[in-house]
Amino acid sequence: MSLLSQPVFRFAPSPNGHLHLGHALSALLNFDAAQDSGGRFLIRIEDIDTVRCTSALVRDALEDLAWLGLTWEEPVRRQSEHFADYAAALLRLEEMGLVYRAFLTRSEIRDFVARVETGGRAYPRDPDGAPLYPGDEAVLSADEIAARDAAGESFALRLDMKKALARIGKPLFWMEEGSGPQGETGRLPADPSVWGDVVIARKDTPTSYHLSVTVDDALQGITHVMRGRDLFQATSVHRLLQEVLGLPEPCYHHHRLLLDHDGRKLSKSARDTSLRDLRRQGCSAQDIRRLVGLA
Ligand code: GLU
Repeated sequence: MSLLSQPVFRFAPSPNGHLHLGHALSALLNFDAAQDSGGRFLIRIEDIDTVRCTSALVRDALEDLAWLGLTWEEPVRRQSEHFADYAAALLRLEEMGLVYRAFLTRSEIRDFVARVETGGRAYPRDPDGAPLYPGDEAVLSADEIAARDAAGESFALRLDMKKALARIGKPLFWMEEGSGPQGETGRLPADPSVWGDVVIARKDTPTSYHLSVTVDDALQGITHVMRGRDLFQATSVHRLLQEVLGLPEPCYHHHRLLLDHDGRKLSKSARDTSLRDLRRQGCSAQDIRRLVGLA
């Protein structure tokens, strides 16, 4: 197989806790797909939250993955070592006039939404259930916005969704090789507008999940993004950023999630399913494969 057509897969955990069975499923699916297709397998550590993603947790995550039997290309990309790459992409978005400073705090947004809803109107929410950003002008006067700016108050940098969509000026799609929550598969329409003005960066962090994942998938030449179905809807935002920034389009494969006894997605706090604990209890890597349904 020529290098050009060689598929490139990645497993991209955010180690703000120990890896659990849900991570094992995703990592093994990516690793197996790379092996089966003669492709490459990369690990990327998504640790832009440098407070919660400690070096000890990163070290433990890599140790767990090695114990599972995975091998990967070195060096592992740690996002915390590449803020300059995301800042460069952010600057391009700013130069296109697609990013603005958003000063409303969470509680100001919450109060605004409550006021609208007591008036009997439903307030629009994104696929994760968070209210869409109302815009500073909905709550603050022009003087108040200018005063916050002048005082150096903290802000989020948000993508002006309407402007970004207008700039693209054509419908967006992505290739889904797995399936969405409703069984969606094949060439699917992307609808980033359901997210409103997403956060692209913050005053003290020149990136966000959406920006760094999009930049890195392109920089690392990822051809196949295989990840949990909880990120299915986020793909619309990633497709938009790819188009605006002129980045290549990978294909996507969203996979099933492992649920806990109450039907919720496994979380890092679900200590009973952490790979460390299972290993301490005597599980083998082969047992983990069986536990996640990949015997
Ligand atoms: N770092 C993200 C997570 O752990 C996954 C990002 C992705 O696969 O696109 O949820």
